[in-house]
Amino acid sequence: MSLVVMKFGGTSVEDAAAITRTAGIVAGRVDAGKRPVVVVSAMSKVTDQLLAAAGAASRGDRTGALAISSRLRSRHRDTAAALLKDTAALAELQNWIEKEFDALDEVLRGLAAILELTPRISDLIVSYGERLSSAMIARAFAERGVNGAHVDAREVIVTDSQYQKAIPQDGPIEARCAEKIQPLVDAGKVPVMGGFIGSNETGITTTLGRGGSDFTGALVGGAMNAEAIEIWTDVNGIMTTDPRICPDALRVKVISFEEAAELAYFGAKVLHPATILPAVRKNIPVLVLNSRNPQNEGTRIIAIAPHCRSPFKCIAVKKKLTIIDVVASRMLMTHGYLKSIFDIFDKHQCPVDMVSTSEVSVSLTVDATDKLPAIADDLSRIADVKYEGQKALICMVGEDIRGQNGIAAQVFAAMRHVNVRMISQGASEINMSFMIEESDVEEAVRSLHTCFFQNPDPAVFDVEARQATVAQ
Ligand code: ADP
Ligand code: ASP
Ligand code: MG
Repeated sequence: MSLVVMKFGGTSVEDAAAITRTAGIVAGRVDAGKRPVVVVSAMSKVTDQLLAAAGAASRGDRTGALAISSRLRSRHRDTAAALLKDTAALAELQNWIEKEFDALDEVLRGLAAILELTPRISDLIVSYGERLSSAMIARAFAERGVNGAHVDAREVIVTDSQYQKAIPQDGPIEARCAEKIQPLVDAGKVPVMGGFIGSNETGITTTLGRGGSDFTGALVGGAMNAEAIEIWTDVNGIMTTDPRICPDALRVKVISFEEAAELAYFGAKVLHPATILPAVRKNIPVLVLNSRNPQNEGTRIIAIAPHCRSPFKCIAVKKKLTIIDVVASRMLMTHGYLKSIFDIFDKHQCPVDMVSTSEVSVSLTVDATDKLPAIADDLSRIADVKYEGQKALICMVGEDIRGQNGIAAQVFAAMRHVNVRMISQGASEINMSFMIEESDVEEAVRSLHTCFFQNPDPAVFDVEARQATVAQ
C-alpha cells in the first residue's frame, strides 16, 4: 500500500483548531487508502521563543528565561486541554508536559549559572518544541479517528555531531525507519514524529538547522521509499514570489526539483533547501500544500517540469545579507589569491552566497553574522576590506531562461529605479541573481512580478485563481 509522508509546519499545528484541521487532513488520506507517516514542527513561534529563553539564560537573566518557559508551558497545557476530552488521557498528557517543562527549566537554571550557551545546549533546548508538539498531536489524533503512534524523532534521525546544523546519516536513518516506523505502519498505525531534531551516534540531541522539519519529512520519505512527500504549510503552494511582498503572487502548479532547490537556497522560505535532495535521489514527488485550504492542488515538484512559456517560475528574496568588498591594489589577483580569500571564510565556517570578481577586487555576500569583524580583520591582512549590511538578494529562477535572448534587458528595464550592486547568472543557467538594498525589495519585486507574470502560462501557473479574484 502507498506510503505518504505528511509534514505539517508550525502554523499547521499552532493551536487546537489547527491541530484538529491537521487530523482531518490525515484522516482523509487514510480514508483514501494511503498510509501516512506524519512529521510535525513545533507549534508556531515556539522555536524562536525557546531560543530567546536560551539567550536570556546565557546572559544571566534567569527570571526572563523562566518567564518565557512558563508562557510556553501554559500554551501547551491549554492546547492539550482543548484537544483531549478523555480525562484520563488528558491527565496523563498534562503530567508528561509538566515533567518536560520541569526538565527544561532545570537546563535553563543551569545555563543561567554557567553563562555559556554551547551549540549542543542550544539544540537540547530547542528540541523541546518538536518533542512536545509531536507527543501532543499523536494523542490528539486518537480522539479524531486517526490511530496515531508517537515516535521520538531522535531515535530515527541519526546525524553527525555538528550541533545546530547536523548532517543526517542516510544508512542508519534507513535502518531506524525500518525498525521503528515500518512496523507501526504495518500494524495500521499512523506514526507521528517531530521534525528538525535528531541525535548523534551517542544519543545526544542535535538539530538539522532552522526550517529543518521539511528536511526530516524528505529524509523519512526517502528512507521509506514513499510514494510522495507532502509539505503542508500556510500558503497554497510555491508562489511566483513571497505573497507577503506581492499579494498578487500566483501559485506555481508544477516546478522541477532543480528550480525548487535553487529557490529554496536563495530564500523562498516555503521549502528548506535540503528537502529536495532525498526526494531527488529516489525520484519521489514533493507536494507543497495548504493546511488551511486542503482542497487546493498545491505545487508539485517533479524531476522534469513541462516546458513553460514564461521564462521565470519564481522570484525569491533573501534579506539580511552583507556585501564584503575585498580590493587588492597591489596583489592584482596573483596565483592563489582567491584561494586565500576563501580560506578565510572557510576558517570562520561562513558560507558565501554570491561572488563577483574584477581585475582588482572581489565582492562576496554572506548572511549577516557576528563573525564579520573577525573575518574582515583576517581579510585586511591581504587586502583593503569594507563591508555593508542590510542588503537583499533577488533570485529569479526558471529553466526556460536557458538560451533565451533579451531576458536580462527586460529584468534591468523593470528595475531601472533600483540600485543594483552585484549581478550573477549561476552556472546552472536557471537563475539570475542580483543584490540590492533591503529597502528597495518591495519595489523591485513588484516591478519584476508585473513584468514577468503579466501573461502567465496557464499550464504552469494558477491563472484561474487570479481571474477569480479580479472577478470578485
Ligand atoms: P512552515 O511553518 O509551514 O514551514 P514557513 O513559514 O517556513 O512555513 O514557510 C511558509 C512561508 O514562506 C509562507 O507563509 C510565505 O510567506 C513564505 N514564502 C516565501 N517565499 C515564498 C514563495 N515563493 N512561495 C510561497 N511562500 C513563500
Ligand atoms: N521548528 C523549527 C524552526 O522553527 C523547524 C521547522 O519548523 O521546520 O526552525
Ligand atoms: Mg518552514
